[in-house]
Amino acid sequence: MDTYTPTTKTISLKQYGIAHNNVHYQLSPKELQGATIQKEMGKQASSGALAVNTGEFTGRSPMDRFIVKDEITEEKIWWGDINIPFDSEKFDKLYDKVIAYLNEKELFVRDCYACADEAYKLNIRVINEYPWSNMFAYNMFLRPTVEELENFDPEWTVVNAPGFLADADLDGTRQHNFAILNFSKKIALIGGTGYTGEIKKGIFSALNFILPVFKNTLPMHCSANIGNDGDTAVFFGLSGTGKTTLSTDPNRKLIGDDEHGWTAQNTVFNFEGGCYAKVIDLSKEKEPEIYGAIKEGAILENVIMDANGVVDYADTSITQNTRVSYPIYHIDNIQQPSIGENVKNIFFLTADAFGVLPPISKLTPSQAAYHFISGYTAKVAGTEAGVVEPQPSFSACFGAPFMPLHPAVYAEMLSKKMQESGVDVWLINTGWTGGPYGVGKRMELKYTRAMITAVLNGDLGLYSYDNYHIHSVFGVAQPRECPGVPTQVLSPRATWNDDEAYYTTAFKLTNAFRENFKKFEAYASEEIRRGGPQRYAF
Ligand code: ATP
Ligand code: MN
Repeated sequence: MDTYTPTTKTISLKQYGIAHNNVHYQLSPKELQGATIQKEMGKQASSGALAVNTGEFTGRSPMDRFIVKDEITEEKIWWGDINIPFDSEKFDKLYDKVIAYLNEKELFVRDCYACADEAYKLNIRVINEYPWSNMFAYNMFLRPTVEELENFDPEWTVVNAPGFLADADLDGTRQHNFAILNFSKKIALIGGTGYTGEIKKGIFSALNFILPVFKNTLPMHCSANIGNDGDTAVFFGLSGTGKTTLSTDPNRKLIGDDEHGWTAQNTVFNFEGGCYAKVIDLSKEKEPEIYGAIKEGAILENVIMDANGVVDYADTSITQNTRVSYPIYHIDNIQQPSIGENVKNIFFLTADAFGVLPPISKLTPSQAAYHFISGYTAKVAGTEAGVVEPQPSFSACFGAPFMPLHPAVYAEMLSKKMQESGVDVWLINTGWTGGPYGVGKRMELKYTRAMITAVLNGDLGLYSYDNYHIHSVFGVAQPRECPGVPTQVLSPRATWNDDEAYYTTAFKLTNAFRENFKKFEAYASEEIRRGGPQRYAF
């Protein structure tokens, strides 16, 4: 069983320029929780979980994420406002400043690794200013055994100093916070933000460069699980579309909830050792596995508790992005090690706030490539200041903020893998039904689960005219019936009760697709372009 293994090993940080020995190495989650509470940086919830506030930042800050431009990266990175270049000399200076800052602090260090498949293992040393950030690293990365720890050789280093504030003019950052990847030095340098997601997504971004460039493996922003017959399912989707929720399925073994690699041997392995679930409106009835994982060892972020430590998951007064991290073994039904074979189904999850995409449809290979490059979901009012009506949001490969290479590189790899493995690809709308956001409502989780179960159990019937209907606007194939789902729910138009409004809104969305796809047209074959929606407004 993969749990905490005590060690008597100690380390020195002299090689990093840190002279003092006030370094806590490889503390247990319990010790880190104790240290957090003792420093009044967190409280214990009634469930036993640790609850912390991450401070000024309760989400990632994409505009403050940089990549050092140097020999390794210059020619390969897709530079732009997602992958913002950072000067290599400026990096060295800023790094020295952060180290000088940490030289005055008590520190928490953890050796761990990413990639559950031995052949891809990436050893990581995480140096944290705060104990709870170090506990996050325990939860989210993979945990070495005592033997592995004996001769541990860290390849990448995460230096995490939330209390260090940059001086933008002097340091070359945009403002006081930053997350910078340096591929030559193999360092992720994070300062000015306590948001833990920056730690895991820093290493994810590094792997999204390393695996395709050096290891012929496709990195994916997806969750994955495996059935009793050994069939693996993969769920792509942007934040909030349901990767964590839907992969946590009591009838299938969880492989991972966010980051995976698909190898040339047709296996899928998790990069991480834990899950990072949204807890907004979490309920024991609807999501019993995630609810049950929130116990001693888990870290709740930015939730509101009463005097008895009882969490009110409906309270979003700090942020909508309330979270919990826990080691994967907090879920009962898991695949160990976190590797699956035989990929049979791929789901593209989208939370369509226009309410026009079918809740489930099957995609042709052209459509799959088109939708992967588009990476559509929608933002609703409330999540970002100034958003009052649904806004389409496109993020290539369903994870553009973490993808250092041009989207076409990942898309080509995926298309090839889809062909070789003969997978079925499904588009699942976990968003709105019966009208757009404000008029309709979110698709019921039990229906989305029933649709996915039907696919995985082969209950949707053969792919034929009798069983499927081609959507007149989007061109995708909607099943006519699905066990456990009222038939009317399967047709978005039927749920609206207003054909004209439905088509007007559908065309609004297809136009947004077309507009967004323009920047990829030069890279897309005629076949991929044919995978787009069939009709547009004029
Ligand atoms: P991230 O990349 O930020 O981790 P994610 O894709 O893992 O995001 P989830 O954490 O699974 O997203 O969030 C989905 C949210 O939507 C959950 O809070 C879930 O309860 C809610 N939800 C409501 N209806 C549905 C539905 N029909 N399908 C999936 N999730 C739903
Ligand atoms: Mn998730």
